[in-house]
Amino acid sequence: MPGFELFGELERKQVNDVLDNGVLMRYGFDGMRNGHWKAKALESALEKTFGVNHVQLVSSGTAAVSVALAAAGVGAGDEVIMPTFTFVASFEAIMALGAIPILVDIDETLALDPKAVEAAITPKTKAVMVVQMCGSMGHMDRLKAICDTHNLLLVEDACQAIGGTYNGKALGSIGDLGCFSFDFVKTITCGEGGAVITNNEAFYTNADHYSDHGHDHIGNDRGAEGHPFLGYNFRISELHAAVGLAQVQRLPEFIAIQRRNLNILKEALSVIPEVTLRTVPEGGEESGAFLNFFLPNLEITRKVIEGFKDGGVDACWNYYDNNWHYIRKWEHLKTLKSLFPITNEVKTGLKYLEHKTFEQSDHFIGRNISCLIKLSWTAKDVQQRAGKMVEIIKNSL
Ligand SMILES: *Cc1c(COP(=O)(O)O)cnc(C)c1O
Repeated sequence: MPGFELFGELERKQVNDVLDNGVLMRYGFDGMRNGHWKAKALESALEKTFGVNHVQLVSSGTAAVSVALAAAGVGAGDEVIMPTFTFVASFEAIMALGAIPILVDIDETLALDPKAVEAAITPKTKAVMVVQMCGSMGHMDRLKAICDTHNLLLVEDACQAIGGTYNGKALGSIGDLGCFSFDFVKTITCGEGGAVITNNEAFYTNADHYSDHGHDHIGNDRGAEGHPFLGYNFRISELHAAVGLAQVQRLPEFIAIQRRNLNILKEALSVIPEVTLRTVPEGGEESGAFLNFFLPNLEITRKVIEGFKDGGVDACWNYYDNNWHYIRKWEHLKTLKSLFPITNEVKTGLKYLEHKTFEQSDHFIGRNISCLIKLSWTAKDVQQRAGKMVEIIKNSL
């Protein structure tokens, strides 16, 4: 990741197809569009990629999470369990529906800790949202079993893990609904875009209608279509979908490059006993979007990050002090800094965040370094980088 590194002729051709006929909207204008249905074609391609029955494209990954939850009936006052380590989009998408994000600890996978999930279940819990961070995944069997036992929806935010698999199944296709982002920095990009994937036909139909103002998409006169329920506008445009259609064709190539690069780095780091790799559950295969490893403590981790910066090893982060990915710096959530009044239900539901601490998450995130894996690196680039990393880490211990 990110897929924009390798933009080329294919992307240009797909976009020009759309510009040539001028229909930038994904619905309607059948006569003008010269047979080009980029959003529809991308949905079909993604159904094959993920091995699922239905894909609904939307305008962003954040929209995908909101649409997925809405499609499954999650709303006002419902609790959605989510991890402390994710992107702010997770709680934004939940709160947009009037639902309450319940943050719980992550474990050595850097995803939801099943024990913490179980402990957080209340009569109000409606869904568990596992976020497959940094190209890998949580303990999916255990999380699914908990959801089955308690009759909860399992939603996967796989925005950072396209191409990853668990027991041969695409990440995103294991829960009741999966969510993807195709924003500018993801493994495949549309510029902006997202997708909801599911095998549940009713959820799909809901997502299709909800993301387009409630349009039922029956017949070919858009103005005459019915609106069986309230919706919103989370549509993707044909221009964005066109870029994605080129990129999805290159996904196998992108994943192969990511994995090659990841394996070179992993092998290099394996000579340092103080370095532990992030746990990938048995049966899981990472997408290779990131390398993740743990060091003995926060102090050493900070030292290594500084060393990486000085030594020209770019795109590596420790998320402990990060504004966007970890609970510690989400003051705006903890103090509910909103432009508009928030419902009392959500206010009351989020009171726990004023005092709650997450020692177990701190234990993992404080010692974690996450390095982006680029598609444009040659094997030689990666080997050189790996050499530098090993040297800097050894000098910091
Ligand atoms: C990128 C991302 C999102 C949001 O996607 P956008 O398309 O930027 O809205 C949500 N969750 C995770 C884990 C992400 O990495």
